[in-house]
Amino acid sequence: MARHVDPKCRLCRREGVKLYLKGYRCETAKCSIAKRRGVPGGRASKRVRKLSSYGIHFREKQKLKRFYGVFERQFIRYYHKAERKEGNTGENLLILLERRLDNVLCHIGYGHSRSHSRQIINHGHITVNGKKVDIPSFLVKQGDVIKPVDKEADINMIKMNVESNKDRKQPSWLERGDGDLDGRILQLPNRDEVSVDIQEQLVIELCSK
Ligand code: SF4
Repeated sequence: MARHVDPKCRLCRREGVKLYLKGYRCETAKCSIAKRRGVPGGRASKRVRKLSSYGIHFREKQKLKRFYGVFERQFIRYYHKAERKEGNTGENLLILLERRLDNVLCHIGYGHSRSHSRQIINHGHITVNGKKVDIPSFLVKQGDVIKPVDKEADINMIKMNVESNKDRKQPSWLERGDGDLDGRILQLPNRDEVSVDIQEQLVIELCSK
């Protein structure tokens, strides 16, 4: 399985925004974006380069892909799927990405970050509606119930993660009650509940060329 090997904070600095790739550290003063005020890394970082129109569109797409940890080929598949659905393609795309199981695990505190959640899923620690799911791109739907597999070690590991992420704010489309490990999808997310700060129209304009 392909994965990003670049230092995570460098990805954020390149996009100039927090992409929350490192979990707890992203909320602290140690975050490189907070320290360096979003200046990209490298020697050329002090030069302020004006982006072309293509550059603006491209950076917005990269930001979205990096936030959700998705590579180009898979991203294009999401785009085509979003295009085939009724309604606004940009909103459809964001909602599809938001429904990924690794993203949901991050929201309910099972994982410290999306990449950590992906690892938890890949290692077979998670069930959806009682069935083991080891595909991070699995799309949740309304009514799904997410739990750790029924083994003491897995339950304890998820409990510890949930405890350390207990201050994380959950979006209203899903819930994990206090003292309850089960994550429930109450409804599908809408555009306003999508957690990334993005101008999706720029991404769609680029993908549709
Ligand atoms: Fe990005 Fe800051 Fe987290 Fe590093 S610590 S991954 S710069 S949000």
